[in-house]
Amino acid sequence: MQFSSALLESAVNEFSRLPGIGKKTALRLVLHLLKQEESQVTQFSETIARMRSEIRFCKRCCNVADGELCTICSNSYRQKQLICVVENIRDVIAIESTQQFNGTYHVLGGVISPLDGVGPDQLNIDALVERIDQEQTEELIFALSPNIQGDTTIYYVQKKLSGKNVRITTIARGIAFGGELEYADELTLGRSLQNRLPVEKYMNR
Ligand SMILES: [Zn+2]
Repeated sequence: MQFSSALLESAVNEFSRLPGIGKKTALRLVLHLLKQEESQVTQFSETIARMRSEIRFCKRCCNVADGELCTICSNSYRQKQLICVVENIRDVIAIESTQQFNGTYHVLGGVISPLDGVGPDQLNIDALVERIDQEQTEELIFALSPNIQGDTTIYYVQKKLSGKNVRITTIARGIAFGGELEYADELTLGRSLQNRLPVEKYMNR
């Protein structure tokens, strides 16, 4: 691609660094912005810069938050005794979109994957164990991707919690998820939350 403006070229380059955005799409987006009011483009760039610099992580569940606690943890109508354990923030968004879950979450920040150099210490597992001690948690629902890394993580956390008085379940898995939780449609994901199983049953199948 040949550009007659270095400013245009660098804007296209920035956009094309985003996942799924090739050079052609980047050019289309940049030309679109060029046609907008200047104030609108300023607002666009300021919103993104603020999102990046001001966003925080909930001190209870490690979800994204604007303050100390996320909106889910600070909502008194949510059942605090019920914790759904997920891999990342996208999973929280996916499950919230089903409108079928009224508990709280715990975002692990990944799953145990020795091949990728991710061990239990890099994940928010200790914080989860602490929460269970402090919050009289009744049920822990694992909603991890149905693969070996997800299973290893469930196994590890379950071992860490042995002897504690908490029911451990997993969302119904092995159904057509397309591999990743975030790709499941809302109906399927909602149903698999309703049809959760005790984790022993799942692990010993
Ligand atoms: Zn939270």
